[in-house]
Amino acid sequence: MSTLEIKDLHVSIAVDGGTKEILTGVDLTIESGQTHAIMGPNGSGKSTLAYAIAGHPKYDVTSGEILLDGVDVLSMSVDERARAGLFLAMQYPVEVPGVSTANFLRSAATAVRGEAPKLRTWVKEVKGAMADLDIDPAFVDRNVNEGFSGGEKKRQEVLQLSLLKPKFAVLDETDSGLDVDALRVVSDGVNRYRAGGETGVLLITHYTRILQHIRPDVVHVFAGGRVVESGGPELADELEKNGYERFTKAAAV
Ligand code: ADP
Ligand code: MG
Ligand code: MG
Repeated sequence: MSTLEIKDLHVSIAVDGGTKEILTGVDLTIESGQTHAIMGPNGSGKSTLAYAIAGHPKYDVTSGEILLDGVDVLSMSVDERARAGLFLAMQYPVEVPGVSTANFLRSAATAVRGEAPKLRTWVKEVKGAMADLDIDPAFVDRNVNEGFSGGEKKRQEVLQLSLLKPKFAVLDETDSGLDVDALRVVSDGVNRYRAGGETGVLLITHYTRILQHIRPDVVHVFAGGRVVESGGPELADELEKNGYERFTKAAAV
């Protein structure tokens, strides 16, 4: 059993000469075996939360805590966070020129596991995971994200998830740009990853669509840089019906 705790997290970014506070006190606790959805309007700070968890240098944590099983995550480097079991799938995955997907995955696995996976079993593992995600075998020879379609990028993220098996996965807008078939394949991949019940998922999304495939245990509404309401899956149904207005108004006062 693992717990990821976010306590009164404040995050600022540098904007033309000054700073702007984007996260205004996020409180959130997620345990392994749970899936939490974070839903909020554009610009409410959802991706900022994901980057802060991952340790992106552009996002300055001015106060608050992130604890993984009681251990301070904020003092860890990006690599240390990955080794500790945190995984972030970016909303805009970066291209890695000159690095094949095969090499990228193997070095990521080496970093997370602390030793290079044995080549023979590794190749099998990768092939199996790719077959599960309907990924063309030729895909691993291509450079990371270079010329990947939106759907291919998302499949690659879920491929990483299934190979790296982090304790907690933060998936930012994993549903964006996916057609119905790709959404199902990607959702099935996330569901396989969480099926063991030993991992936690923080699923960040603007739309309720992906929540039809990946049922969350808890839904948090995000507005004005913090969680303004938490509830069960029925909260997502209310958002689907009525939108975010009730929450953005409340966050503005
Ligand atoms: P969301 O993911 O909910 O759409 P973001 O976290 O992307 O929200 O953005 C929250 C706010 O912070 C927005 O007003 C956005 O313009 C601003 N912001 C986020 N990252 C940066 C950045 N690197 N530079 C400038 N502004 C940023
Ligand atoms: Mg956005
Ligand atoms: Mg975003």
